Amino acid sequence: MQGYILRVQKVRDEDCLVFILSKEQLIKCYRFYGARHPVITQGFKLDFELVENSNFLPHLRGTMHLGFKWLFYTDRLLAWQQFMRLLYEHLKDASEINEFYYDLLEDCALKLEKQNPKRTILEAYVRLLEFEGRLNKEMNCLFCDGQIGGRISLLRGFLPAHPHCTSKVVFDTKAINELFETAKSAHLDDFAINQLYYIILEGL
Ligand SMILES: [Zn+2]
Repeated sequence: MQGYILRVQKVRDEDCLVFILSKEQLIKCYRFYGARHPVITQGFKLDFELVENSNFLPHLRGTMHLGFKWLFYTDRLLAWQQFMRLLYEHLKDASEINEFYYDLLEDCALKLEKQNPKRTILEAYVRLLEFEGRLNKEMNCLFCDGQIGGRISLLRGFLPAHPHCTSKVVFDTKAINELFETAKSAHLDDFAINQLYYIILEGL
């Protein structure tokens, strides 16, 4: 089986709980400490086996790290791990996991070879909102329901608002519209990318 490690939680001594997103599910499994085992790191893609245990969680065995070259770039790894944390929080209570999420990570992992990590995650997040039917393209203000003009503020979940109805950072509405329509960020400057990325960090 293959999957992405969304979360590693240390439990007594050096054992840990590992949460892995596979194509079909968010797996919660247990890993006993072993000095000869490869390191389990959040964000890594693994090939692995699960040994079922009727009294307890399945045990994680036979792990092999499927590496990406970009993992050696600290900025990419850190942004990626932040995205894993957000995705874990977002999916942890879901009873079923659509393969969309795994496929999205596969696509991001490829793009991170070349693209700025914040842009990769921003574009992925717009696709996630679209998939979940939460991408608000109507451009009506969350607070007063009025139509938004040339300037827009975005709240958590990229919900639109008038700049005068909130104290959040302001964007050009046309640029946000293009982002929502295309899930592409090439037309946005680095300042806007950073501001949008901070909104994502508030939670998916
Ligand atoms: Zn308003």
